[in-house]
Amino acid sequence: MRILKGKNLFILLSFLGVVFLGIVLLGCWYLVTPRLMEIGPQLPVIAGIAILGFYLGIVSLLSLIVLSAYLEKDLISAKKVTVRILFPLATVIGRFLRIPQDEIRASFIEMNNSLVKSSAKLIPGDRLLLLLPHCLQNFNCPHRVTAEVRNCRHCGGCEIADLIDMCDRYGIRMSIATGGTLARRVIVETRPNAIVAVACERDLTSGIQDSYPIPVIGVLNERPYGPCRNTRVDLTLVENAIRFFLKTQSPDSIGGGVAARRSQQREKQWQASQHVKSHSGS
Ligand code: SF4
Repeated sequence: MRILKGKNLFILLSFLGVVFLGIVLLGCWYLVTPRLMEIGPQLPVIAGIAILGFYLGIVSLLSLIVLSAYLEKDLISAKKVTVRILFPLATVIGRFLRIPQDEIRASFIEMNNSLVKSSAKLIPGDRLLLLLPHCLQNFNCPHRVTAEVRNCRHCGGCEIADLIDMCDRYGIRMSIATGGTLARRVIVETRPNAIVAVACERDLTSGIQDSYPIPVIGVLNERPYGPCRNTRVDLTLVENAIRFFLKTQSPDSIGGGVAARRSQQREKQWQASQHVKSHSGS
């Protein structure tokens, strides 16, 4: 069970990190005060005010980042601080408190997604990349979709076919990577303006860090058969992320999303099968 939902864990750990930093700064000031007194009696007060000002600046910065994430409004452009400073800080504090790393990573991904949503601009379809992990493909499928996604035969054995349809519908690019190195190479070669990435907590976190400053919305995969094998993904979450970057209209106004249509198709197939059964029984 998760301790705190969504981005709240990451925010709490970041604030704890800032509190820890405050204690360190206070300790440093306390240790250098006798030396400063020898130089000049006013110096400890001046140094104290400077350190306090610096610290209040950090607290204000963190507060603005948190507010941006909650309101999903671009109050401050500080994704770099979040990715490069707050995440390592939250990881260290979380390790100290014995919080599972995947929980911290999942919370960081939520935080990152909110910050991306607070600032992202409209992305043309051909500049958006859907990056998928190889483990989404059915483990027994003989077709090499990592080399070319069009090798998929749309047999329905996994969600790769649904995701290809989704990309075709929105006119975006799609790539399936077998690992972090290949994913990085795809990004370098395709130079997208934004990425929707599906992966586990660890790969998504490192992917978000490596891809910076390209905005990435991360969607966690589901692992009903354990890690790296026959994983799944919530198609609606993927489609919502694509829609966000493309700034498309609401599902109702353009006749429903791919995920919604897919479920409608399944419903129709089920109704048709029921109809056939009832006729063959009569
Ligand atoms: S949908 Fe495509 S990738 Fe998935 S099992 Fe069928 S052929 Fe293979």
